[in-house]
Amino acid sequence: MNLPLRIAIDGPAASGKSTLAERLAKALGYLYFDTGVMYRAVTWAALQRGYAVEDADKLTELAANLDIDVRPPSTDDGRKYDVLVNGEDVTWAIRTPEVDANVSIVAAHPGVRAALTDKQRAIGRRGKVVMVGRDIGTVVMPDAELKIYLDASPEERARRRYQERLARGEQADYAQILAAVRARDRLDKGREVAPLRAADDAVILNSDGLSIGEVFEEALRLVKAMDC
Ligand code: C5P
Repeated sequence: MNLPLRIAIDGPAASGKSTLAERLAKALGYLYFDTGVMYRAVTWAALQRGYAVEDADKLTELAANLDIDVRPPSTDDGRKYDVLVNGEDVTWAIRTPEVDANVSIVAAHPGVRAALTDKQRAIGRRGKVVMVGRDIGTVVMPDAELKIYLDASPEERARRRYQERLARGEQADYAQILAAVRARDRLDKGREVAPLRAADDAVILNSDGLSIGEVFEEALRLVKAMDC
């Protein structure tokens, strides 16, 4: 049986995409690549430099010139990989509420998307990849053999984020997280370039009420049912 070479997983914030993709990649021996990391890295670098996140020209130049690298984890602190920006370890720095609040504004600039999409396509061309994001099935790898759109209600997604933060020993406020999830959905679905939506040929999975294990089993069934 021929397994799909490229698997695209899209969906809204905190729908469980990353966990699913990571497990699928491990089961298949494929590369797991989370494109959200790149938008987060550009956002973090812009905030560090004091750039206004609305400044399309500055942000486009930054995205084109930033050296973003994702490598196997160097530290056993719960991370799945290291994220380096110009050699600096920003693995946790790109996960702060401040980056969460600004990343969808940065990701809406067409120039930023063009720069990052090029890099993502180059990785996709090598095959044997499970790539995660918002526009992987529609824009980055429209010819992916399997496309999954993983959805869940805003309340369920906010609950998951809330519990993740508490588990990391951080302060968390459910109502604030829910408002942030809704705000990011609005921006990601409403932007002009590459808005979040399911590709016409994507399989839509709703993870409300399902465990990670159940979502994984369903996705693995889809992979095995394919004969490319
Ligand atoms: O998946 P994650 O929550 O880390 O993504 C952060 C943000 O990056 C998203 O809310 C979205 O604005 C942007 N993004 C995107 N296209 C992708 C991946 C992420 O616009 N392919």
